[in-house]
Amino acid sequence: MADEQSARPGSPAAAARGWRPQTTLICAGRPAREAGQPLNVPIVAASNFHAGSPGGVAVREYARDHGTPGWEAFEEVIGELEGGRAVAFSSGMAAAAAVLDLLPAGARVVAPADCYAGMRALLADGQQSGRWTAELVDVTDTAATSAAVRRADLAWLESPTNPLLGIADLPALCDAARSGGALAAVDNTFATPLLQRPLAMGAHIAVHSATKFLGGHSDLLLGVAVASSPELAERLRRHRELAGAIPGALEAFLALRGLRTLALRLEQAQRSAGELARRLSGHPAVNRVYYPGLPADPGHARAAKQMTGFGAMLAFELPSAADADAVCASVRVVQPATSLGGVESTIERRAKLAGEDHLPPGLLRLSVGCEHIDDVWDDLAAALPHTRAR
Ligand code: PLP
Repeated sequence: MADEQSARPGSPAAAARGWRPQTTLICAGRPAREAGQPLNVPIVAASNFHAGSPGGVAVREYARDHGTPGWEAFEEVIGELEGGRAVAFSSGMAAAAAVLDLLPAGARVVAPADCYAGMRALLADGQQSGRWTAELVDVTDTAATSAAVRRADLAWLESPTNPLLGIADLPALCDAARSGGALAAVDNTFATPLLQRPLAMGAHIAVHSATKFLGGHSDLLLGVAVASSPELAERLRRHRELAGAIPGALEAFLALRGLRTLALRLEQAQRSAGELARRLSGHPAVNRVYYPGLPADPGHARAAKQMTGFGAMLAFELPSAADADAVCASVRVVQPATSLGGVESTIERRAKLAGEDHLPPGLLRLSVGCEHIDDVWDDLAAALPHTRAR
């Protein structure tokens, strides 16, 4: 970046540009315009930089401590989209772990009973080793969750939840967290900052697995935590420096390249998801569809209020695990795979995973990609059982 200070993530210079998110995705995080120089920040495969302080200004010397231009460009875009200061990590879980490490020993954490299974496992491990206690709640129940959050040190919120697409009342829960003195962090992976901005709803931190929609091509692992204040961002940055879960040079490059097309990818995928949810709802073999964009979905009104779109994730229930496994085995356009948010549609029977056996056995989670809707539908329709759901 040409001007190191003014290009810092979430800096007033970035915020003051006032671009619409689609433009921020494309125009932020660029090197200064200089004749003959590249439009994109190149891959900076460097740990070590020439030392010195030209004109008395300290320069970056070591990547783990001071970052690289590639991470900073990525952070600038996400920070500006979320309205905070972004700190990139080596994975979504590394970002989540950094947030948990902000807590004092013995802290109380409230988290969704339905949330990313890796997060539940991390919470369980930390509880077992005495680092914190974790209370798992139904985050769609605002009264119960608010009461729990008021007793907590950290409200870890996820909305829409993975995999049941539950919608938490983020403004109310962040308000409850703040009034009780708790930190409010929201995993915004499913929504992306294009559809939901947790910091604007009162959260202290928004967290992403950038592995998913932000990167968008199933070719990298990366995470990011976006803090509402410079102080909080500095604590997260210091954690990254000392714990060392830094982004890789290639990953940061690929993630930024993926971000440039996020609006286009998400628009297409979301449109298809809405249509697939509607068609699946009318399919005789499907017991239930979970998608907040469906008017009959329990989270619909809340999602319509706090999100600007319903996203590209949905889940649906078939009568049995065998039916669901058969769908995964016979789809051709849709890929049976565990991750999500790529240009390719992916499907998974979640209850087969360790720690997910509380889910309905026939539940399939579908991450809708950018293929032609009719090819995805034809593929699913051919794979679905032809018998009526029980
Ligand atoms: N949050 C959500 C909602 C996820 O689905 C995942 C991974 O699937 C994560 C966080 C963890 O991200 P990562 O795999 O990048 O560590």
